[in-house]
Order: sequence, then C-alpha cells, then structure tokens
Amino acid sequence: MPISIKTKQEIAILREGGKRLAEILRAVAAEVKAGVSTHALNDLAEKLITERGDTPSFLGYSPSGAKRPFPAALCVSVNDEVVHGIPNETEKFLKEGDIVTLDAGLIHQGLFTDSAITVGVGKINEKAQKLIDVTKKSLSVGIKAVRAGATTGDIGYAIEKFVKPFGYGIVRELAGHGVGYAVHEEPFVPNFGKRGEGVVLKAGMVLAIEPMLNEGGAVVKLASDGYTYRTRDGSRSAHFEHTVVVTENGSDILTAS
Ligand code: MG
Ligand code: MG
Repeated sequence: MPISIKTKQEIAILREGGKRLAEILRAVAAEVKAGVSTHALNDLAEKLITERGDTPSFLGYSPSGAKRPFPAALCVSVNDEVVHGIPNETEKFLKEGDIVTLDAGLIHQGLFTDSAITVGVGKINEKAQKLIDVTKKSLSVGIKAVRAGATTGDIGYAIEKFVKPFGYGIVRELAGHGVGYAVHEEPFVPNFGKRGEGVVLKAGMVLAIEPMLNEGGAVVKLASDGYTYRTRDGSRSAHFEHTVVVTENGSDILTAS
C-alpha cells in the first residue's frame, strides 16, 4: 500500500487535533496520584476527548489479529507494563513510586493523532526518573532524524545509537507508524535500525514516533487480556510518543504540549 501524503488542509486539522490531544494528556497526567484508579484516568480522558466533539480512536479499535476490540479510550501501562494496558477492566490503583504510561489517540474532523507520555506517581526513585528522562530524550533524538529524503532506518538508527550507552532494552516488536487516516498506517517505524534502510520519507507524511525503553532486557510478552505488553524480566518500561509531519527540512511536532 502506498504511504499517504497529507494535504496542507489535512495537516491543519491534524495540528488542531494534536494540540487538543496534548492538552488532554497533560490534564490526565495532572490527575496521576497515589490512590487514583486507572479506570478514573480512562474516564477523564474519554470525557475530555468527547466533550470537544472529538472521538477516542483507541476505543473499539480492532488491530489485525486481535480477538476483540480495545475496550478503552486510554492505554494505561504501569511499571513493567510496556504499552496497551487496559485501564477499565480490573480494579487497579496507582501507588507512590509507580511509573505510568498514558497513551491516547483521538479523531478530530476525521483525522487521527496519537501521543504518549510516562509520568511518575508521587516521588519516584532516581532509576525510574532516569529511565523516563532518557526515553523522553530518545524521542526527540528520533524526531531530529526526520526530514524529507531521510529513511525510517535513519530514525531507528538515531534512537538506538542514543540509547545504547544507557544499556536499556529497546522494544523491537512494537514500533512507530504512519497515522492520520487511521490508528495505524504504513510505514512501520522501528526504534532501531541502519542508516539509509527502510522507507524514504517525503514531505507531508505523518508519523507517530514512539520509543519504548526497558530498564532490563528488550523482550516483551503479551498478557492473556490480549493487549497488555509487559517486559519479560519484570523490569520497568517507559514510552513517549509524538505525531509529527515530515517537512522538507525536518518535521513539525503536531502533538507538542
Ligand atoms: Mg500511542
Ligand atoms: Mg502509536
């Protein structure tokens, strides 16, 4: 399938959707406190998305191969959960010292944006803060590699090279992706790779870039709920994601807060 190029008008809509999504993630993150349930965070995200006339893109989404649609508006992944944690099926309350990834997508005037952040609950230890800081930085390093004429491999290479000295595991099974007309589009944007490999980027492509880093090994396992990925070794994981549009000289972040 050819990789879609979004028009100027579509990019303007994505920019407004991305701005809204950033505001919503910030508002939900502000409610991350010890004793708060993941369910409450999901309800807040859903309310904030829908009250402005937008649609949560994850709720009811059926990825290929899934046995059932995703049941929530927000993914909430705590500690060793990497991504796609389901916030509204089991009673789960956040504890001081946890780290929590909030990942959401919305549809604004028919167009999709996607963004994620990892935050601490109350006071977190130095190791957890470092994992969060390095993961956040690795996203900006990846985004800096984006421009027309660069490749998806250049993005992965930049992230991998930056992360390597820290010794964190880079999740390989899950990756960034095209976005805009759907939750997931081509191309696949891995967080590792070789320069010059993969898909050549063109101005107007819209990508979700999303490094996931584990304190321990890179290997993840899928839980029996069919969605939640955890680190196999039980180590903690962090995740940051922005939706960006490729430009001639670089990129614009559409979900910047
Ligand atoms: Mg996401
Ligand atoms: Mg994504």
